Amino acid sequence: MVELVILGSGGSIPTLKRNHPAYLIRHEGWNLLFDCGEDAQRRIEPYGNNRKMAIFISHNHADHMLGIPGVLLRFSLLGRIKPMSIYAPAELIEFIKVAQSTIHLGTTFEATVYGVEPGVVFSEKDFSVRAFEVEHRGKAFGYEFTYQKPTGTFLPEKAKELNIPKGKLWSRLAKGENVHLEDGRQVRPEDVSLHPEKGLKIVYSGDTRPCDNVREAAKDADILLHEAMYTEEHSELAAERGHSTAKEAATIASECNVGLLILTHYSPRYEDGEVIIREAKKYFPNAVLARDLMSVKLNHDGNTEIVTPKN
Ligand SMILES: [Zn+2]
Ligand SMILES: [Zn+2]
Repeated sequence: MVELVILGSGGSIPTLKRNHPAYLIRHEGWNLLFDCGEDAQRRIEPYGNNRKMAIFISHNHADHMLGIPGVLLRFSLLGRIKPMSIYAPAELIEFIKVAQSTIHLGTTFEATVYGVEPGVVFSEKDFSVRAFEVEHRGKAFGYEFTYQKPTGTFLPEKAKELNIPKGKLWSRLAKGENVHLEDGRQVRPEDVSLHPEKGLKIVYSGDTRPCDNVREAAKDADILLHEAMYTEEHSELAAERGHSTAKEAATIASECNVGLLILTHYSPRYEDGEVIIREAKKYFPNAVLARDLMSVKLNHDGNTEIVTPKN
């Protein structure tokens, strides 16, 4: 099971109920934090200070990254020991390092900052995070989280059929490795396995105009977390400021066969966001509005379960 927790559903201007952007994916002992807006420290603390952790920043606008010093400070005060990795656009590396050195953050643990380029930036045994460029103002990324079972069930009868000698080669194939046979043939694990269990995919758009890189990442995603700063009424503003409307986000979800669309980063001019979700549902019915502290559990069969906080 993978859990997505909305720590902050706000846009550039936070409100009493909606913090700056911060989205937490929890999976197998990991906390993966996507964007780290101001005050993310209070929201993330209940989810575990001493879990393994990595932070991924979409771009260098203040609403998406001013929370980094606070998180480092908070975790340091809580006595965190485990190291932490921060993946951020290159322009931010200096900012984070200066914050660390001048205000003595993260003294109980090591926080290492890496520059992000498009491609896989982080991988563990069965999940990975890929960055892709989006169209905002300046360099900006979206992220794709993928959980993939490494192999399906190994089928010995298939291996026999293909005249693969039993022994080491069989166990390497069962572990998901490609093997070369003496006769020059190459055999891939999928040639001798049942199809792997369907993987799970969560895509975060960051701040962006609708663009092909988001479409490509969002193809068949179980969850698309997409910004929807405006409604169609303000589509000119969306184009001018590098954001999307609710209709545009919903159209992408529909084109890309997405399971669940979560709309976030909507302007406070729309107050509780009802007008945003109403517009989106016309184009993609399985859409919900992000609310702070809403949790979405994504099960291995791709089904989702949403828990919304009461207040
Ligand atoms: Zn923003
Ligand atoms: Zn921005």
